[in-house]
Amino acid sequence: MTFNQSLFCEQLSQLVATPSISCTNPNLDMGNRDVIDLLANWFSDIGFTVDIQTVDNNPQKANLIATLSPRESNSSEQHPQRGGLVFSGHTDTVPYDDMRWTHDPFTLHINNDRAFGLGATDMKGFFPTVYAAIQPFLDKPLLEPIIVLATADEETSMSGARALMNPSPSQSLQKARYAIVGEPTSMQAIRMHKGIGMESIRIQGKSGHSSDPSLGNNALDVMHDVITDLKHFRQQLQQRHSHPGFVIDVPTMNLGCIHGGDNPNRICGQCELEFDLRTLPGMSLDDLRDDIDQQLTRIAEKNQIIIERESLFEGVNAFEQDADSDFVRTVEKLIGQESQSVAFATEAPFLHAMGMDVLVMGPGSIDQAHQPDEYIDLKQIEPAINTLQSLIKKYCL
Ligand SMILES: [Zn+2]
Repeated sequence: MTFNQSLFCEQLSQLVATPSISCTNPNLDMGNRDVIDLLANWFSDIGFTVDIQTVDNNPQKANLIATLSPRESNSSEQHPQRGGLVFSGHTDTVPYDDMRWTHDPFTLHINNDRAFGLGATDMKGFFPTVYAAIQPFLDKPLLEPIIVLATADEETSMSGARALMNPSPSQSLQKARYAIVGEPTSMQAIRMHKGIGMESIRIQGKSGHSSDPSLGNNALDVMHDVITDLKHFRQQLQQRHSHPGFVIDVPTMNLGCIHGGDNPNRICGQCELEFDLRTLPGMSLDDLRDDIDQQLTRIAEKNQIIIERESLFEGVNAFEQDADSDFVRTVEKLIGQESQSVAFATEAPFLHAMGMDVLVMGPGSIDQAHQPDEYIDLKQIEPAINTLQSLIKKYCL
């Protein structure tokens, strides 16, 4: 079956024309519900069972779990073990900079085998790719389900992926065995990435006239202790953990910004520091936060001062799919390339934590993501469809 490019472009233009910006700034945040409804229609029209899961009790935010089940009923009885292949993508996009786009970001514009539009590569283009890939299998007797998963808020809180971890959004997803997260990797297989956390530390001291230090409690002085401690902690982490699969092969901590005080002759009453943590597979963000909190408690007691740490978002743990797993070997053979690591975080660790073997692999390049005039290279679509079809044949037939 040859690739129907005009259907692909028609479907992508529908998705692009349905805005779904997610943003930590509530004025820009839109929700993704309209995209979810659109996808639910596409997939239910071709025989999928669709399950829409509201996210964060917000009617504008949802996940879609669309399942094409084996035709025999009671497939769960016949296959008590895990089974099924998930094609997963997020439906939200980042905001855009109006002035820097050549064309309307919500109107798909095709030029020279490139389809331009907000979210075209990251990652609305994955859904019509999946839609095209499953066409030849709609009337085939499946042994395991094909599941299309579409999530909310990947670009901000990952609350959509988080919601999947809640009790049973869908039987098929709970039992799924394999997953492709279709982020734009130019169809290179990615089996690991670092985790990320962003934290703030706020020290509440007491201001006063600088001529007499006993009149206050200097938050900036204490922040110096905190930073010294954090740098020591970072050094320890980097001595204890390393991973040859990453270009930067140790965990990192970047002290990103600091704000405090107002005047040279006033005791600094308040100081705040923000930093990020980038973890390696096997490290838990929560454990690191606990370690940091213990140190902060010690410094606070010593200085009789209030120190609060807050996570700026929940964070995403690092992800690693075992290099020796059948799934990795199969995909590497299919694409003729070894799997790799990337520097950006994805929803993969959430699916992995649900017991699936996961790879990140999709058409389009991350180089065009989060950019004005974002586009997906249409030449990548047909090879992507072929790869997805090979996976369906291997794991669902
Ligand atoms: Zn993305």
